[in-house]
Amino acid sequence: MGDISGFLKIKRKEAGNRPLHERIYDFSEVEQTLNSEDRMLQASRCMDCGIPFCHWACPVDNLIPEWNDLLYRGDWKAAYERLQATNNFPEFTGRICPASCEHACVLNLNLEPVTIRENEVAIVEKAFAEGYIKPVPPKIRTGKNIAVIGSGPAGMAAADLLNKAGHTVTLFEKDERAGGLLRFGIPDFKLSKATIDRRLNVMVSEGLQIRTGVTVGKDISTGSLIDDYDAVCIAIGAGQPRKLPVEGSEFEGIHFAMDFLSAQNRINSGSQSPAGNVISAEGKRVLVIGGGDTGSDCVGTAIRQRAARVTQIEIMPKPPLTRTPDNPWPYFGKILKTSTSHEEGCERLWSISTVRFVGDGKLTRGAEVEEVAWEKKNGSYSMTPVNGTRRVIEADLVLLALGFVHPVLDGLVTELSLELNERKNIRVNKSLATNIPKVFAAGDSVNGASLVVNAIASGRKAAREIDNYLRSI
Ligand SMILES: Cc1cc2nc3c(=O)[nH]c(=O)nc-3n(C[C@H](O)[C@H](O)[C@H](O)COP(=O)(O)OP(=O)(O)OC[C@H]3O[C@@H](n4cnc5c(N)ncnc54)[C@H](O)[C@@H]3O)c2cc1C
Ligand code: SF4
Repeated sequence: MGDISGFLKIKRKEAGNRPLHERIYDFSEVEQTLNSEDRMLQASRCMDCGIPFCHWACPVDNLIPEWNDLLYRGDWKAAYERLQATNNFPEFTGRICPASCEHACVLNLNLEPVTIRENEVAIVEKAFAEGYIKPVPPKIRTGKNIAVIGSGPAGMAAADLLNKAGHTVTLFEKDERAGGLLRFGIPDFKLSKATIDRRLNVMVSEGLQIRTGVTVGKDISTGSLIDDYDAVCIAIGAGQPRKLPVEGSEFEGIHFAMDFLSAQNRINSGSQSPAGNVISAEGKRVLVIGGGDTGSDCVGTAIRQRAARVTQIEIMPKPPLTRTPDNPWPYFGKILKTSTSHEEGCERLWSISTVRFVGDGKLTRGAEVEEVAWEKKNGSYSMTPVNGTRRVIEADLVLLALGFVHPVLDGLVTELSLELNERKNIRVNKSLATNIPKVFAAGDSVNGASLVVNAIASGRKAAREIDNYLRSI
């Protein structure tokens, strides 16, 4: 373990964020980094508990106490080797994972968990800086060809492991660049796109083939893929946005969050001109509907686009500031989260339902909303409108950040006659095999909209199962 009494001597120290009045003028990453000495001291706080709950809570089973100990001792290379044994892309999770490990850290019993996420990203960044991460192409190729469809974290993780196992892997992506929601959903101020390119370059140097701008089911038929490849992994994400079925939701001036976020990501990468951005928030009163991470990303993006005012509403009640008795440690704490985007200047309202949009083919005033009261009965919540609370929130631009319901079903899913589960996600068995022989599926397309770390875990499992399948035929 690190220092046996490290946690008694050293307090939790976070790297912190760039000053608010500087960061809102650009799209560069908000989070800063600690110097190496402080980082090693932070690692010394890990107690190597008898039962490492952090490890239990991490979806990719990161060997957290082990790499914290190596980090504390200054052996960054060994720490990286231990880290990459379970996680293909710690540079992504180390930046944007909600860190269920820290919620489960024993030190979190008194709210001072080890800075596990930040330690993770520090280790991988040092590994890149010191040249520990080099392309290592497989020595032998198996002669098996695999198509991975979708280049988000699930597809990237599956493709990476299958390529490393010696199979010949082609990663198909409908967008013009690979990365999935890492690239076109998550804003640069949380995850710089250079971070994705750096990893993709390593993977390509190791022999991975990437074909962007190819929609499978449209540009290539699924039948020909099945004929041409020994196995197929579908990792197309959960791209169907949830609609808001109220009067006026089709008005001009109302957009899905992803259309707004992907336009800004394309502008940042230079592939779209700012002048051509039809969904700019500049000078507008912006209403974000949906209180989750996607909504928060809309808030930060709208602020950087110079919105006149940003309001975010959520239908669920305001979460508590501390854990409730039915949400004990070591489970993920369902408590109020204030993101860096929220700190940048946004009004947040909870228990607010949208009744209708006020306009005439076009948003003219905003959204009529009303308060709702929530009651918990037999473990489930029910909602009733509060009489006399209707009012209009004035807005010129409304962004719908209500989550995603399931994968896009038109095209590939329908063409292949893939079986779906009750939520209309792709149905798989415990080996992640679909109902179609030699076709596997992973990530959000199977689990529903989730997290990057879960997508990586799922892609890793798909790679193992496909490898087992190929060895068995
Ligand atoms: C705005 C936003 C912010 C988020 N922030 C966070 C965060 O901070 N932390 C976190 O952990 N998670 C976050 N998430 C969730 C996370 O991004 C997803 O859970 C994760 O990316 C899912 O990975 P995936 O590989 O399954 O799918 P995706 O990342 O959705 O990738 C699927 C890919 O498949 C491609 N594709 C689809 N159909 C086809 C086809 N027919 N042919 C070829 N390609 C196809 C798509 O273009 C896409 O590139 C966020 C999500 C959003 C929308
Ligand atoms: S991947 Fe997420 S849960 Fe796992 S160690 Fe990293 S920050 Fe924690």
